[in-house]
Amino acid sequence: MKFKAICENTAMKKKFGARLLGVLQIALGLGLSLLIHSTVAVAQSNSSDKFEFNDTHFHLTNYIQEGVDIHEFLKTMGTKVGRVALFGIPLQQEWSYQNSGDYAPTYYLQTDAPLYYYSFTDAYIAMAYRSLSKEDQARFDPMITGFNPADMYAADHIRRVLQTFPGVFSGIGEFSIHKEFVSSKVAGETASLLNPALDRILDFAGTVGLVVLIHNDMDVPFAAEGSQPAYLDQMKGVLKRHPNTIIIWAHTGMGRIVRPIKNHAAELAAILGDPQFSHVYFDISWNEVAKYVVATPESTRITADLINRYPDRFLFGTDEVAPRNQEQYLRVYNQYQPLWKLLDDTTREKVLKGNYERIFDEARHKVRAWETAQGSTPTGNPR
Ligand SMILES: [Zn+2]
Repeated sequence: MKFKAICENTAMKKKFGARLLGVLQIALGLGLSLLIHSTVAVAQSNSSDKFEFNDTHFHLTNYIQEGVDIHEFLKTMGTKVGRVALFGIPLQQEWSYQNSGDYAPTYYLQTDAPLYYYSFTDAYIAMAYRSLSKEDQARFDPMITGFNPADMYAADHIRRVLQTFPGVFSGIGEFSIHKEFVSSKVAGETASLLNPALDRILDFAGTVGLVVLIHNDMDVPFAAEGSQPAYLDQMKGVLKRHPNTIIIWAHTGMGRIVRPIKNHAAELAAILGDPQFSHVYFDISWNEVAKYVVATPESTRITADLINRYPDRFLFGTDEVAPRNQEQYLRVYNQYQPLWKLLDDTTREKVLKGNYERIFDEARHKVRAWETAQGSTPTGNPR
């Protein structure tokens, strides 16, 4: 603002013939401008210091594709949240009049009507991102979600979105394979870890450099105590088949109804200690996960010990869906306070901010390079 005022003032002086004064003021203005720019640059390079966390897992819209305006959401992030991996929800809950009559469901548990893949979500997210200034765009990493992971053509959808909206996306997800109460409600073929359509998706993500955020419950709801988690071996198989793809396993594979956290931590430790899975990360998002982690001092301690052992492999996320205010947005972060206290300082910093920056900065770089090689320009027009 100061620089602008000086420029206007300079123009006035010139008009009245005070050229020398004008030149001096332009020089002063340029000096000020440089000072302002260098101050901004310093502020940006330290930007992550002033924020509490980056959010690896955030839904701008809900199961009926409604949400908060991204400009409003920036205010909700405020000075608390630096960067956000941004996506909608790939599934739309159908409002079936035959099922719920005048009652309009907004969540998948509110009706027996099916869910279906809603590909327009990707265009919606891209346009929301594009409505932001360059500075504000830098705080988001949009993700592609609007594909059916049981469809051999899913990878083609992802490619098409990148080509239609170059300069926007950093990853794919959150998309779900096995999710309690959701998978069986999806219209059409049920997604599976054994489906080669998923391999095509993960291969393509690896080629482009897209981060993958996948939701897959490790186990079925209400599993018997001591039983082998139903989907663990299949999931390990998928992860092993794609060593060149950065994969974040959402919620550490926990579902809404989980087995005791001790067993779960042991399963995670086996993955984290195996070099075949060095490309695999975990997000600890969702209030349902936080609930189990902070349930007892013992469960918090077991989780903290594991994270302190593998500080580069965990990322915090909220998994909030279209939060109305900052209090709602920060509730999972606050819920985790007992965990934050038990993490080493460097580990806490990595889980809350550093790991996000490392992984998503690299993804941005790779995806932009892939787009350039494809002949796409950030304006959205083919060259
Ligand atoms: Zn989620």
